[in-house]
Amino acid sequence: MEPHTEATLVPPLDSLPLPRPQAQPEPPTGHTTSTAERGSFCLAVCTCGWSGPARRSRDLARKDATRHTAA
Ligand SMILES: [Zn+2]
Repeated sequence: MEPHTEATLVPPLDSLPLPRPQAQPEPPTGHTTSTAERGSFCLAVCTCGWSGPARRSRDLARKDATRHTAA
């Protein structure tokens, strides 16, 4: 009379290769910027909570975002 024991070997999950997202390379600082429109103005916003000044053109807002991520 032996207890029914069965050794099951489960491979660790982290041995599986992680799929790499095909996103544009960004500095690993947690800053992901995008532009938001407010009325006729456009401003840059970041995931860190930062937001740039309201601009008349989206191009200027994007430059604010670039300056923020570069800083
Ligand atoms: Zn930021």
